[in-house]
This record gives sequence, structure tokens and C-alpha cells, in this order.
Amino acid sequence: MDYQAILEEIYEEIQPELKRGKVADYIPALAKVEQEQFAMTITLEDGSVFSVGDAKKQFSIQSISKVFTFTLALDLYSTELYKRVGVEPSGNPFNSLVQLEYENGIPRNPFINAGAIAITDSLVTYYKDQYKTLEVIMNFVRDLSGNPSLSFDQEVANSEMAHGDRNLSLAHLMKSFGNFENDVTNTVMTYFKHCSITMSTEELSRAFLFLAFAGKDPITGREFITSSKTKRINAVMLTCGHYDASGEFAFHVGLPAKSGVGGGIAAVVPGKMSIAVWSPALNKYGNSHAGTLALEKFTTKTGVSIF
Ligand code: GLU
Repeated sequence: MDYQAILEEIYEEIQPELKRGKVADYIPALAKVEQEQFAMTITLEDGSVFSVGDAKKQFSIQSISKVFTFTLALDLYSTELYKRVGVEPSGNPFNSLVQLEYENGIPRNPFINAGAIAITDSLVTYYKDQYKTLEVIMNFVRDLSGNPSLSFDQEVANSEMAHGDRNLSLAHLMKSFGNFENDVTNTVMTYFKHCSITMSTEELSRAFLFLAFAGKDPITGREFITSSKTKRINAVMLTCGHYDASGEFAFHVGLPAKSGVGGGIAAVVPGKMSIAVWSPALNKYGNSHAGTLALEKFTTKTGVSIF
């Protein structure tokens, strides 16, 4: 299959869509990002890479980082982790407090904010220190992406903290139910920092390749997590990866994937490839408008999907 030609076709078709949607503005540092941008990369088992657009430009990966932290925590805690975080779609906005209250402080899944904050808390407990935790997360993402100098954007993290009342409330609410072990402010700051990691579509697609190959990076041969846990991670991405539009995404695209409010989406085609797409303007659910359409076009044109 001529993947480059297919990506170029998508790139042409998507141009009029770049004007639609709206860049996230609840994090002021993200509101400054220029709207009409687009990049898409696929990485195959043998390391071949196909891209269109500004595939080397780094953007804020935001909630896509939740896949990396979930992977680390699942590897460390195994099924014990599910005592603190469920695996059901929430059907609610990503930062909802209501459901957390009536479900006794146990977040529905690791990809809504409460769930991801609980996961970060579990990592801080394990590593006994917020800085060590961040270092482990950063080094994991560096290993996965093959870029040892990957970093996070302190300005974005500070901006999130300055407007972090809701996320802090989620953590406090979990603490009131006994589902939070460390200092709320420091742990939520660690969460903001990993959300502020900046990566390009080339780096992100490379970093997701292990999830397409049963937990093992097919290029380096390194196993990051077991195949059975990889199955769980991909299942949670499919059912919970796009906030309360996860059903719609599965319906139109048909791939396990995770989005972030920076406009990125990383997707997995098990046994074949990983895909990353970025376009900062979001649809009403907080997922990249053009990015979602591009993935839908990709699975339609290539016939690759898990169904
Ligand atoms: N750091 C963002 C927040 O907590 C993540 C949101 C997202 O990408 O869904 O609000």
C-alpha cells in the first residue's frame, strides 16, 4: 500500500477543515497556539515512517500522556491498580466531579482527569517522591520515542496550575474518600507536568509503536509491558480514549486511540502500525476536529481498523 500517497491525499482533503473547531482556551498557554496547523505520521514495524505536514513540530501532548502513566502504573501494580481506578467509559466530560462523588471517589477510568491524577498519585507513592516520579515518566517517554532530550513545557504546566481548581478539587475529593495518598498540590503539579510534555507526530507515533506490537518495540526488540497488559491498555483506549465521544470515535475510526486537548491523537493498529496526528482546533468534545477526520479518512481509504 502506498501510505505516503494516502497521507498526501488526506492532507489535501483536510485543508478546508483546519478553519473549523476551536483551540483549547481553558489553559491560557495553549490558547496562543495558531489554529491552522496539521501533521500526521505513521510508523511501521520495520521502522519506516511516512509523514505529511509539520511532523517535526512539537506540541503539548496533554491527555495522551495518560497512556504512558497508565502503562507504568499497570506494569507496577497489575490488577491491584483497579482498586483505585475503574475501566468503564464515563459518558461524562473529562473533568467532571459529579460522578466521582456518587461513585465514592473511584474514578471510572485512567483517562478521565480524576483517573489520571489517581494514577500519578500511585506512581508518587511507588517512587516516594514527585521529582523521581516525573523523571521516571520522562525517561519512559524518551525511551519509547527514541528522543533522549524530550521535555515538558514549564509555562504550560504553570498555566494549568494557575487555572487548576477543578483538577485540584478532583484530587481533594478522592482524598476525602481515602483514594489519594500524597500531597495534593505536588501530585497534581506532577500530573500537569506530564500533560505538558511536548512531542512531534513523528515522536509520538514512534512512542506508541510498542502498543501495536504486544508491548514490545519491534525496532529495538525491547519489551516495555506484557502482551496481556497491552491488550488492556488498548481496550481502555478504544472505550475511553476520547472522553465522552469515545463511542463515536470507535464508530467512525475503529482504532484504539487517545486524544489530548493540545490537538494530538495517537492511535494503534495492532500488528501493523502506530499513527499520530495533530491539529490544534478541537471539536465540541475536546478532540482534534481535523485530526479525528483525518484518522477516519485513513481507516476508510486503507481499510485498516480493528473491525
Ligand atoms: N492537563 C489537562 C487537564 O487536566 C488535560 C486535558 C486533556 O488533554 O484532556 O485539564
